[in-house]
Amino acid sequence: MYVELKDINKTFGDYKASDHVSFGIEKGKLIGLLGPSGSGKTTLLHMILGYFDNYKGSIQIDGKELTEISSDSLHSLITIIQQNVFVFDDSIMKNVTMYKDFDNQRIDGAIMAAGLTQLVETKGSDYQCGENGKNLSGGEKQRVSIARAMLSNASILLADEATAALDTTNAQNVIRSILELKDMTRIVVTHSLNRQVLSQFDHIIVMKDGEIVDIGTF
Ligand code: ADP
Ligand code: MG
Repeated sequence: MYVELKDINKTFGDYKASDHVSFGIEKGKLIGLLGPSGSGKTTLLHMILGYFDNYKGSIQIDGKELTEISSDSLHSLITIIQQNVFVFDDSIMKNVTMYKDFDNQRIDGAIMAAGLTQLVETKGSDYQCGENGKNLSGGEKQRVSIARAMLSNASILLADEATAALDTTNAQNVIRSILELKDMTRIVVTHSLNRQVLSQFDHIIVMKDGEIVDIGTF
């Protein structure tokens, strides 16, 4: 699916979180979204997810205006790897599958891609995550979110600093998994300035103070 943003303006009070933002992403492409903290990256992802209706401009998915897409359809179209992950007080397996049925091979693949294999093998798939995931580390919570995204049938993947809580090896594995999801249209917010990673993005967008200050390839 392609995504197109045209002249997006979004304010929080007097603060311009998105200031005349326009860009398009073709189906299956990988976009890197860079910029300092507070530059409006998360806000932009949240707008694509339909969290806000009070913005100016147009967001289209395959030519259809976001505001005309039901939130149910939007949920099945788009998946996000969040900075803050919601974890249920249930087993690691239930948290990954979100109570849906998948075949075991697919679950194993997602768990491996997210770097959760070791945890599941040592503690078991029944391992209890606890209230708000208190039995998981920050990195493990992020991996749960990654596994969920890998299991979804969404056409669009958004990743918001998906590797921030991971060590270098796990971060690289996750990035590699995202790079391989070539059926998905992907927007990845990253702090990684690793050349090898950046060179694989189809486009890189740099934001500052809500504006796009640079757009191009590595
Ligand atoms: P980034 O992800 O690039 O760090 P954000 O999109 O989270 O930036 O934030 C951009 C600006 O918008 C920040 O100044 C932030 O404080 C502000 N902001 C984000 N969400 C809200 C909100 N719900 N209410 C008020 N201000 C917000
Ligand atoms: Mg952010």
